[in-house]
Amino acid sequence: MEQRQLSFIAYDTICRITITVPDGADGEKLLEAARDLAAQVETTLSMFDGQSELSRMCSAYVPGEPYHVSPMLFTFMEQTLEAAAMTDGAFDPTVGPLVKLWDFLADAPRVPEQQEILRTLERVGYGHIAVDRQRQEVIFDREGIVFDPGAAGKGFALELVTGLLRENGVTQAVLDFGGNLYVIGGKVNRDTGEILPWKTAVRNPDALDSVLGTIPMEDCGIATSSWYEHCFKKDGNVYHHLLDPRTGYPLPLKLKSVSILSSSGTLTDLLSTVFFVLGEERGTRLLNRLRARSGSGLRMWRFLGGGAACPGAPRASTPAARPPPAAPRTRPSLSFTPPSFPSPHPSPPPPHPPPPPSPPPPPPPPPPPHPPPPPPPPPPP
Ligand code: ADP
Ligand code: MG
Repeated sequence: MEQRQLSFIAYDTICRITITVPDGADGEKLLEAARDLAAQVETTLSMFDGQSELSRMCSAYVPGEPYHVSPMLFTFMEQTLEAAAMTDGAFDPTVGPLVKLWDFLADAPRVPEQQEILRTLERVGYGHIAVDRQRQEVIFDREGIVFDPGAAGKGFALELVTGLLRENGVTQAVLDFGGNLYVIGGKVNRDTGEILPWKTAVRNPDALDSVLGTIPMEDCGIATSSWYEHCFKKDGNVYHHLLDPRTGYPLPLKLKSVSILSSSGTLTDLLSTVFFVLGEERGTRLLNRLRARSGSGLRMWRFLGGGAACPGAPRASTPAARPPPAAPRTRPSLSFTPPSFPSPHPSPPPPHPPPPPSPPPPPPPPPPPHPPPPPPPPPPP
């Protein structure tokens, strides 16, 4: 069977798709369709492209009036708002104005004045958005809300693209969207034809040239969240990109990195951030709840790191506690149940074992300006 690979830039990072072309399919066309879908996710969800559907929505909506969105944007907003409800707002996709204020991607990021943070907080809170699934509409209750897809957008893209590949008969693929990995199927043993899991190494945040261990992967994705590559230091303090939507400051964190595995690309990416912002105890409880619902497939790797990981940002004085977000007009249904794992071996192995998929791509060079904390890809077979 033929192997094909396509690399492209999206989400400010390198994306790479490797597939075993199904019999009779046009591999090139398939990969182009996959890339086009990934590009469509970007032109829908980007917070930094003023022309994306999301940006146009944020600058055009009128508070209190329904705003119609595409099915893609609606699904993404509904799922991330649901995650916000599940975490009581510790995870909150409306952190956009804070993310823009802190601007961690700037050449010389600065610590905002406390007054700026307090003013910005008035535009943050998932309770300021209501969704209407029937009409595919969203309603904002105030001006200036910015929806930030940063915590789950790449995983959402992976979920859609792997869905497209599967619908077109692909049973073996490795996708790497800037460190968010997804594998369809397993790796075929050259000699025996046996299908084995891919192995993915997770990097040790305390010693970046070493790994914590390897994780077997088959029909699932892995996303790693961390802060050590997304921070700046000022006056001896560490300021990182995972923000507390209630205070507007970086969260105090004990964990150094969290890797989540699941059969859903969106859930994987989303939960890796959620686990971080919830902390270990509440994160584990949420994970267990979701795992009980989904049957199987949801796994977690956490790493505490050596010493105090990140004490969080000091403040000039304790900021005024923000009132809890208004209850959403349409309560999220909490129906966000990850799909259960598809059977890893849907059909018996063919009599003549196909060649194994080509080794997954080498680690992408650190792509400016959004360096991901990638677990290195699986080693060659
Ligand atoms: P990566 O940048 O490696 O994809 P994550 O998936 O963990 O990392 O997402 C981090 C991003 O999530 C931040 O850059 C920011 O855009 C967004 N974010 C920060 N704090 C929160 C929060 N409390 N809730 C939701 N999203 C957040
Ligand atoms: Mg994430």
